[in-house]
Amino acid sequence: AKSQGRNQVQYYTAALNMHSFKHFALSNDLRKALAKDELFIQYMPRVQAQTTEILGVEALVRWNHPDWGLVSPAEFVPIAEETGLIIPIGEWVLREACKQNKRWQDMGFTSMTVSVNFSVKQLLQQNILQTIDRIVEETGLSPEYLEIEITESSFISNEKEVIHLLDELKKRKIKVSLDDFGTGFSSLYLLKQLSLDTIKIDKSFVEEILTNPVNKSIIECILSLAKAMNMNVVAEGVETAEQYAFLKSKECDEIQGYYFSRPLDIKDLEALLKSKQMN
Ligand code: C2E
Ligand code: CA
Ligand code: CA
Ligand code: CA
Repeated sequence: AKSQGRNQVQYYTAALNMHSFKHFALSNDLRKALAKDELFIQYMPRVQAQTTEILGVEALVRWNHPDWGLVSPAEFVPIAEETGLIIPIGEWVLREACKQNKRWQDMGFTSMTVSVNFSVKQLLQQNILQTIDRIVEETGLSPEYLEIEITESSFISNEKEVIHLLDELKKRKIKVSLDDFGTGFSSLYLLKQLSLDTIKIDKSFVEEILTNPVNKSIIECILSLAKAMNMNVVAEGVETAEQYAFLKSKECDEIQGYYFSRPLDIKDLEALLKSKQMN
């Protein structure tokens, strides 16, 4: 029986492909990543479409793993969600982002909003409002300079709860945006009931603006809908001058994408802000 057990182990070991091995290793290591200071945040500018003034930055978490190198959040955020580690990690990102924006304000960059991504689990954790209140209080950031980005998936089977949460955030003047708009389930009826400040058009629509006429129509549609509902629109994933020109001509409010800037380390963002100030 003992040798059979060993064969089994060998069999499974051989059957593990690279992907599941990495997944397994990462989920083990993620537990300690925070304590070991392996996580850090980059900030990605979001600019006003007409003037290219930087109106805000989105906090994007990164993991510098000792063996695997830089691990993408697309890879480890889902693991954090599975394991529940998204709760302490998300709280850390929120605190760091608020602290950092307060520092920028004290340096004279006074009108930038910092946006923080919230996954479903985070949003629906118990006492989330108290946690947000505590962090805002602790860091001294004015709540109107904080934005929380949620996705359409938050509403699936939690509609009432999330509607209530958004109302509470609005009372506190905290902004809320709907991320990856157009990729998930969402009804216009639901959209109408939400206290949203901004919708972010998913980059998959922006990507094909010039090659796929349907995408043009979808974007035009979203823009006029948002205007009617008095919401701000951000187009994500803008990489080319042509995409930017189209969105600008359609009076999209804000742009985020590599065309203007990649996600930046704190120092690099500060250099960019300073160079913009001088113009
Ligand atoms: P997201 O919230 O949709 O963030 C935008 C992603 O698109 C970022 O990838 C950003 O670097 C990328 N992006 C922006 N503009 C362009 C562009 O012009 N071209 C291309 N090719 N990419 C662009 P990133 O940083 O890898 O993040 C991936 C996802 O991971 C995020 O998608 C978000 O869902 C999640 N994420 C990142 N940080 C956090 C966090 O702190 N908490 C949670 N819950 N999720 C996070
Ligand atoms: Ca986002
Ligand atoms: Ca997005
Ligand atoms: Ca996303």
